[in-house]
Amino acid sequence: MSSQSGADHYKSLVEQFYEALLLLKALSGLRDGHDGFPGRQNLRKERLRSFLRGLAYFCDFKKGGDTYTGIGLEEAETEYIFWVTSNKHRPELAAHLSDMLDRLKKLKDAPEDMKGRHRRSLQAMCFSKSGKRIGMYQTHLTKSITDAQNLLTEPKTKHDRELSLWMSGLLEADPKNYVELCDSIFTASKENHMLRLLRSRAKFERSLENIRGKRNAFDEVKHYIGRLASHTRTLNQLCDYVDDPLIEEIIRAQRVRQIDPLEQTSESTLDIQATLNGLLVGIKDGAERREVQSRLDDLNRQCEIFKDISNQYSYFKPRVHAEVQILEHFYRNNLRFANDDKFVGGSKPSCECCYLYFKYHPARMVLPESSHKVFINWSLPPVAEPQSGEADFTQQRKILSKMVNVLIYNAVSEILDCRTAPCWRPDSLTDLSSSIASFRLLEPDGVTGPS
Ligand SMILES: [Zn+2]
Repeated sequence: MSSQSGADHYKSLVEQFYEALLLLKALSGLRDGHDGFPGRQNLRKERLRSFLRGLAYFCDFKKGGDTYTGIGLEEAETEYIFWVTSNKHRPELAAHLSDMLDRLKKLKDAPEDMKGRHRRSLQAMCFSKSGKRIGMYQTHLTKSITDAQNLLTEPKTKHDRELSLWMSGLLEADPKNYVELCDSIFTASKENHMLRLLRSRAKFERSLENIRGKRNAFDEVKHYIGRLASHTRTLNQLCDYVDDPLIEEIIRAQRVRQIDPLEQTSESTLDIQATLNGLLVGIKDGAERREVQSRLDDLNRQCEIFKDISNQYSYFKPRVHAEVQILEHFYRNNLRFANDDKFVGGSKPSCECCYLYFKYHPARMVLPESSHKVFINWSLPPVAEPQSGEADFTQQRKILSKMVNVLIYNAVSEILDCRTAPCWRPDSLTDLSSSIASFRLLEPDGVTGPS
């Protein structure tokens, strides 16, 4: 393929990529399934991954995608380097991560009778940084509990009374004391009997409403308990991990460096309001293409998806997500991952595009946990000479081509299945547990948050 036709092919792939992405977003925003945290190979590997993920979690203070944080750990000759970055450049990030690591080292070195004090000091610092997020979860929890109490109408069964009393107790902690609040919810999150009652009541409500994806107050109570409890659980894990010999070795010889953000590739100037020809051209089978076109027209009449697509496009500001920045930083500079584990610790599960980018990248990375949500503001990392036939460019085109195939396949499947808006799946890592997190809820207003 000549350089020029290679560049043209690339341009058309980029167009198809965003067309499929916008369409998927308008249709639903995610495909079925949730790929969990990569683990269970060996304990040592899993612990270090979990440690990195926990650090990233406490570097991400807010809901939403801007503060999504990724950490890659390099094993250099004489030291370990924590490479950190977030979706939006945050100059204070490296200093904050350094502070956390120093405090963890102090905790490790402290005499037994002083460990509690060091632990509480680290907890207070981390929770106060995450105060806005904690406060918002608490507000949501309070509202969900009020709504749930209203559903428990008289006459109450024995279990209803038990549940009602327990939920009221969840609101007793001082909402401004983030440590007390999260600790008390964490304790409650381990009361399996009450959680079973909560789940069973949520299931009952769903059976009454029988509307797929309809918001359910009991589901939300469970969800926000998980969100708040995760602060304490993650902090406890970080503190416990310093006893792991490898993690101890790492925190004794570490340095933190922030990756200079990769500029996004030049903004696309697609005419997205046109006919989505790129997507349709990608469908080779003529009969299927006509079927898709016809279903698209139907969908548009029913729910104005083209209007939705053009609304999405008006907020189009793609950028390179943090985990992709880290992948590229290690790959382009030929850096060695600690423990030979090509893993990036992320503060939330990755989006669909990051997941696919990892999957098709020749670096052969560990696939990240993913919510498979689609966010249109996703950019490929820039390559030096996009118009030439250079190796980087050719490689990127190959990755993009595979991603486009999957996205088009997913979009076409959604259209042919005529799926309605899907049930909500949380972006965060932090539901009660991955086994409990399989409940499907509707996304509360304002809750967004890509990787
Ligand atoms: Zn992403």
